Amino acid sequence: MAEETIFSKIIRQEIPTPLLYQDDLVTAFRDIAPQAESHILIVPNKLIPTVNDLEQDDELTMGRMFTVAKQLAKQEGIDENGYRLIMNCNQHGGQEVYHIHMHLVGGQPLGKMLNL
Ligand code: AMP
Repeated sequence: MAEETIFSKIIRQEIPTPLLYQDDLVTAFRDIAPQAESHILIVPNKLIPTVNDLEQDDELTMGRMFTVAKQLAKQEGIDENGYRLIMNCNQHGGQEVYHIHMHLVGGQPLGKMLNL
């Protein structure tokens, strides 16, 4: 059984983080340490630790994450100029919170995709 992270507490609103979106499958809120003008996290309500743990039953949820990202990008006014969607996996991917999440970042030019 995977261990819960702070994201589960935010999803259940046990930590009063303002939510930008929530439905039966996903929740979105602003990143606490934004790395761009606009930096939002879109998180499945179900605890899935990493992309490696995804199952076929999660496909609807993963699709919802994309349509919510699109909706929030429009709401933020960054859809026309563009933005980046990122999911980090495990150590080499730079994952810090082991409850998968999609980063929606934009609001400024984002430069090269990778700085290795
Ligand atoms: P990752 O490195 O892909 O696992 O990203 C984890 C992200 O979660 C980082 O960008 C953190 O700033 C963000 N984060 C950690 N704790 C919180 C929190 N309590 N509220 C919002 N964002 C958080």
